[in-house]
Amino acid sequence: MREMRRRNIYFRDKVAVRRSKLFSSLSLDEASRNRIVIIAEKPQAAERIQSVLNIPAVPARGHLFTLRTKRDKLPSFDVYWSCTKVMKEVLVNILDFIYEVGPDLIIIATDDDREGEVIGYNIFRYLYEGKKWKMNDLFSYDPLPFIHRMYMTALTKYGIEKAFSNIRRMKEDQLAQGLGRNYADCVIGLNLSKALTRRIKLESPDLRRGFSLGRVQTPVLTFITNSTFSEIREESYSISYKYCVLKDTVIELYDSNISPGVYKVVDVRESVKEIEQARPLPNYNDVILELSDKIPSEIIDSALEDLHLKGLITYPRTHSNYCSDPHELYLSYLEMSNWKLINTEIFKFEYSPSIKVKGEKQPIFLTVDGIRERENLTGVERLVADRIFQMMILTFAPPIKVLTREIVLETGDTIQVARKIIDGVNVSFEREFEYKFRDTITIVERREKMRGYRHHFEFPEDKRVISWMVSKNIGTEATRTQYIPKLKERGYLDRGGLPTRLGYSIVSLFSRLIDVELTYKLEEKLNSLSSLHELSVFRSEINRMTIEMYNTVMSADLSDLYPTCPKCHKRMKFAERGRALFAVCRCGYELLLSR
Ligand SMILES: [Zn+2]
Repeated sequence: MREMRRRNIYFRDKVAVRRSKLFSSLSLDEASRNRIVIIAEKPQAAERIQSVLNIPAVPARGHLFTLRTKRDKLPSFDVYWSCTKVMKEVLVNILDFIYEVGPDLIIIATDDDREGEVIGYNIFRYLYEGKKWKMNDLFSYDPLPFIHRMYMTALTKYGIEKAFSNIRRMKEDQLAQGLGRNYADCVIGLNLSKALTRRIKLESPDLRRGFSLGRVQTPVLTFITNSTFSEIREESYSISYKYCVLKDTVIELYDSNISPGVYKVVDVRESVKEIEQARPLPNYNDVILELSDKIPSEIIDSALEDLHLKGLITYPRTHSNYCSDPHELYLSYLEMSNWKLINTEIFKFEYSPSIKVKGEKQPIFLTVDGIRERENLTGVERLVADRIFQMMILTFAPPIKVLTREIVLETGDTIQVARKIIDGVNVSFEREFEYKFRDTITIVERREKMRGYRHHFEFPEDKRVISWMVSKNIGTEATRTQYIPKLKERGYLDRGGLPTRLGYSIVSLFSRLIDVELTYKLEEKLNSLSSLHELSVFRSEINRMTIEMYNTVMSADLSDLYPTCPKCHKRMKFAERGRALFAVCRCGYELLLSR
């Protein structure tokens, strides 16, 4: 530790030169390049930056610091940034690295999102202050005017060089939103979880596990629990005429439920309709939602991350469908036409009408390397890259022509209509798109109803949970895929994603305490934070809410948490075996609550 302190002092003296110079006086000539250290988020990113710019770069390996509250008194608002044992090593590595280079200037090059800002800000603040800081001391020192930041849209040569030539200040709104989110999650989550755990342990002091409640986690659990059901329901079925064959002007019907008949065609009407299929480039949610019915969303998320770190796609945690830098996209399309992957006749080296230039973030697309490497990829990465590739081509897709043929039949007392739908498509795109030609004829008819019983069993797959979160605007691109694994780890969902008994009782007790409406309002507030100074009002609001919720948890009637024994109707108690949680009764009856 003494060694570390020595390095900090050294570092502060060294950068004191720069400290007096504000951001605007920055000049990056060749000579000063030797005196720079770049801090990236991931090791691969640091490697790429170093090889492109020939400037020493060191990775932060994600969050070096995590928010914690002091343990003794609840509710606690004494929130500080703590560094785990593993992360302390990373921190020492960064200090060693900087010590070796002895730079005049540190550039933060973490990811361009809220978490990236928080990571960069924390490292920078630690380097300058030489100590971990508390959220209460937010304004004791303001490093923002001294932070030099580069924002890369892709880890390509072009993307990195462009970011380096556009060194700018840290985006204060993004940082404030990141710090606010960390604060809200920590203060609400830790205080309520500790309160609940304490109360349960009063009755069951031998339990080792904790019981968690979370600002976003609990509404997600509520959604999953409410949309999970298993029941026998009465159902009505309808039969329609499904199979038939066209024979000149007469139609013959076949259907197992209906005796075949021959009908005279009275009239045939044709109409052509165009359906627009070009669409903008995808953002993070688009890609996750496209693929998450096949693959768990956290696996897609890590594939996106890996593709980005290899420089094959733009930064994936983006909510933008618009292009901030059309030049980068242009290079990718040019590469596609070089490989004859898109038709230059249609491409014509102009931007497609479905690509709009707006904002400062890129949507997701394959970089030039991504287009070259796509066919060498395997597994989930290949699947994800292929889907993004398809989406890129779709920005140029011409409208689909749909031919509808209505056949009017004479059937004695009723008139029936048959439709034939033929999908037409621009010939030059045949290589890229696969179309299913629907050529069966459906006869629209009065339907007959039948009754039956069926066992319904349903629970929401990842895709539905995430699209629900997107529609309610809760969580962020960087976090939405993490809640289901988290709920499984905490024993609220089983391995298959179904709520455990424990999950059900947590929801029945606390879903009103931390509900979607409240979470939604908080998210809105978080997303509108634009400066660090707004954080003080925001924090006191969070504190007030936390006290209210804390009191509710402390006074809640927890008896619903403990099941009643089905044999002797007494209240059961919690017991632990390994990681599994049971409810046990004196009569010997046991119930598994969570594995
Ligand atoms: Zn019993």
